[in-house]
Amino acid sequence: MNRRDLSRHRIITAQDVEDAAHAGVVELLLQPGAMLTAEAAEAVSRHGLRLSGRDGGDGWEALLNSAEAQPFKEEICAVGRKLWQRMYVDGNGGNISYRLRDDAVLCTPTLCSKADLTPADLCLVDLDGKQLAGGKARTSEILLHLEIYKAAPEAKAVVHCHPPHATAYAITGRVPPTCVIPEYEVFIGRVALSPYETPGTQKFAETVLPFVKTHNTVLLANHGIVCWADTVTHAEWYAEVVDTYCWTLMLAQQLGTPVSHIPAEKAEDLLAIKQRLGLPDARLAEESCPVCDMPERPGAITTIPNSGVSSGRSPAVTEELIAAVTEAVLRELEKKRRG
Ligand SMILES: [Zn+2]
Repeated sequence: MNRRDLSRHRIITAQDVEDAAHAGVVELLLQPGAMLTAEAAEAVSRHGLRLSGRDGGDGWEALLNSAEAQPFKEEICAVGRKLWQRMYVDGNGGNISYRLRDDAVLCTPTLCSKADLTPADLCLVDLDGKQLAGGKARTSEILLHLEIYKAAPEAKAVVHCHPPHATAYAITGRVPPTCVIPEYEVFIGRVALSPYETPGTQKFAETVLPFVKTHNTVLLANHGIVCWADTVTHAEWYAEVVDTYCWTLMLAQQLGTPVSHIPAEKAEDLLAIKQRLGLPDARLAEESCPVCDMPERPGAITTIPNSGVSSGRSPAVTEELIAAVTEAVLRELEKKRRG
């Protein structure tokens, strides 16, 4: 029998795994809830060993280590490396998840650089965030991912990261105007900005809810971005598209000549392509709003966010309007007083 019984151990070390592998063992029997050190998890993956017993017989550990999960775990690791190489994550920042089944989501662990991820690092959680399987603790940001999965049944993958150019917009409370570059219109379009909340909390997770149905990318105020799609790879593409768009606008502004816009009737063509691809866009649901968001000052590269969201009007809009109206009223009063 090529199985070694390690069920007396609460913690499994790399040495335990190496000893078993060298003895020709193919399966390790663990106690329910047993933890593997990072090195042990890596050795299990490297030797292709099966783990059994850790889930107490409910099958989640088996699902996490199944052939069904393996390609998605590999895709998450590949995307993690892309995010790090493109400098979209720093330190242990960012997190990635994939909805493997209706009731089970693969996700990255906490406190792990996305450059160093291996399939053995990944965790399995339910839609309430409870960890079902995996030797490492799940990311604290999984609550954000789960709100998106619950609100958008078509979302299969979520990527959260901190790309510098898109995050630069997110820390100014502004979003880029639309109708400048066709690819951005088709894949992202009008991006939303969600209000600031403390990362890792349920309150933070819920800040994206007003935008989930009509967007695939949200700028998170004073934090970063989150993108969702049908695959992890596509969600990462959206991160690339939005960050490159923000970066290009910043570069264009340095040329000293105002950015020009795609004419509205041509922009309608792009929205039609988008509709055919089945991608969400807040403008598709609107009858009367213009397709192109023009910047606040002609030629500027920022605009006020969330113009199409009726229920969740941004505090920035309200405050600014109030300030502008108050100023106009005071000016009139002053005129009257003097005149
Ligand atoms: Zn973050």
